[in-house]
Amino acid sequence: MTFTSWLQLLELCFLLTAVCSSFYTALVLQSAETGQISTQRLARAMFVLAFSFLIMGVGHLHMQWLHLTGTNLFHHYFGVTWGDRLWLAALMLTWLLMCVALVLILRLALQHKVQQSTAGLVEVNQQLVVAACQDPLTGIGNRRYFQAQAEQALLQLRHRHQPVSLLMLDLDHFKQVNDQYGHAAGDQVLVAFCQLLTACLRKDDILARIGGEEFVALLPGASEAEARDVSERILQATRHCVVPCETCQINFTASIGVVALKEAQEHSVSELCDAADQVMYRVKAAGRDGYQLVDCLDGLLSRCTG
Ligand code: GH3
Ligand code: MG
Ligand code: MG
Repeated sequence: MTFTSWLQLLELCFLLTAVCSSFYTALVLQSAETGQISTQRLARAMFVLAFSFLIMGVGHLHMQWLHLTGTNLFHHYFGVTWGDRLWLAALMLTWLLMCVALVLILRLALQHKVQQSTAGLVEVNQQLVVAACQDPLTGIGNRRYFQAQAEQALLQLRHRHQPVSLLMLDLDHFKQVNDQYGHAAGDQVLVAFCQLLTACLRKDDILARIGGEEFVALLPGASEAEARDVSERILQATRHCVVPCETCQINFTASIGVVALKEAQEHSVSELCDAADQVMYRVKAAGRDGYQLVDCLDGLLSRCTG
């Protein structure tokens, strides 16, 4: 093989490299159409394309030189006139192919970047929603969470004419717990109380911490008897709960105000909470560590049993 033949073979290699890289890009684009493309794959495709641009640049100079010396591959096989035309067409087509590949891969890279930022924003947004609705100490919902969830539950209960109960719970003499054992121990009591509440309630019940040592629970579909049963279970569990601290063991009790309605009717969440709160204060006045229940809100807590 002569030196000129080697140069012509090199010419062919340049063109083939450029065409292959464009097809590789097409494959990457197609795989991106069918699913998520990884950052590494995209980076590899961009590297291959950049490398081919370099090869093609060098190749173009090389071909130009062969062309000027009249020894290029196309001249050799197709004669001067057709050789020139075909050489020009091959060059143009290859450049065009590579430019299209470049534009498409850049567009894909941009889409990928936007997708990644959007996914990041969605995640941050979800974390914010959780943070806005969660009590950081106990991990249960806060007042905002309760309002939203309870309103939704009440709507459904009203629609199905089902009963509903709401419990307002407050720890007794909690300030004394803090004063006697310290704020950290008080926090442990809150966490322990929250755990026992979760254990006593059903999965569908909506529990939230709405104040320092105040909790609320909405029991969708729970009858008066069930509300009494749950309240007694909570009080029993609270009396038996012991929270260890460094030098001692803490016992505590709670007071519960209960509203149990045969039908959810048109009462709002706030009305139910207000009523249960008032009943809870009656328990406090009666000596604490107990519960009282009302089964209607007419005349504001007119019928009170328990
Ligand atoms: P009562 O039986 O009448 O409810 O009396 P109480 O002492 O429980 O009620 P009071 O409202 O007088 O005191 C509530 C205390 O709860 C005061 C406050 O320092 C404490 N507290 C509020 N939030 C937290 C908290 O996140 N952690 C701790 N450890 N204490 C808290
Ligand atoms: Mg209290
Ligand atoms: Mg309180």
